[in-house]
Amino acid sequence: MRSWIFNIAILLATFSLAPMYRYLHGYYFWCYAALLFSAMGFLFAACTNLSWGLFIKALCSAKTDEKVVALSFDDGPAAYTENILDTLKVHKVEASFFCIGKNIATNEAVLRRIAGEGHAIGNHSYSHHFWFDMWSAAGMMDDMQKMDNEVMRVTGLKPALFRPPYGVMNPNLAAAIKWKQYTAIGWSVRSFDTKIADEQKLLSRITEGLKPGDIILLHDSMAITAAILPELIGRIRSKGFNINRLDKMLNIAPYA
Ligand SMILES: [Zn+2]
Repeated sequence: MRSWIFNIAILLATFSLAPMYRYLHGYYFWCYAALLFSAMGFLFAACTNLSWGLFIKALCSAKTDEKVVALSFDDGPAAYTENILDTLKVHKVEASFFCIGKNIATNEAVLRRIAGEGHAIGNHSYSHHFWFDMWSAAGMMDDMQKMDNEVMRVTGLKPALFRPPYGVMNPNLAAAIKWKQYTAIGWSVRSFDTKIADEQKLLSRITEGLKPGDIILLHDSMAITAAILPELIGRIRSKGFNINRLDKMLNIAPYA
């Protein structure tokens, strides 16, 4: 979805090659071009791979030999949150919900249910704005605070965990997270539940290669996620894994 921004950056870099072509010849020009694109590739990868921790240390999995994993749901409270809560209740699973602040006003009862049924609520920004990662650190902090205010207003809890919208990290966001004293949370298993339409494919993608300490990224805004959840829990458990809340697995506080 956001890849076109990267495409534009590549285009701009390519334009910058033209003037350089006049000054650098042959071998030197190609060295310059290779360096430029390697640097861009590295930066892009560093911004989209939270686990690299180039700008801030984000917790993406737990270091443990114990067969335990955690489920996390982003972008709610949304259309399938209640359905997902029902399934979690039946199967006695505690999970984490990284909610979007602007969704709360119309879903206050659902947010209270998340907290009341033993799940953790994390901050996933107020706006989830498309350009969020282009904002200044101050703008990001305002947005984060607005989200905290919503959670505090409805549940009395102040989130201490933050998951970046779109999973993108950069120096401004790293600074905002440090100022606000959040713990940055990523994931080690990206389900691609917003892209994969085949239930069996999605289940295999999540459960094949599951490792102790994995944090699984899901979305409670997706119908397919609600649909596969009972089988997903079953498959994880049949592989001998327990499912724990990520803050408990990581031994960190979910609220400030
Ligand atoms: Zn999101």
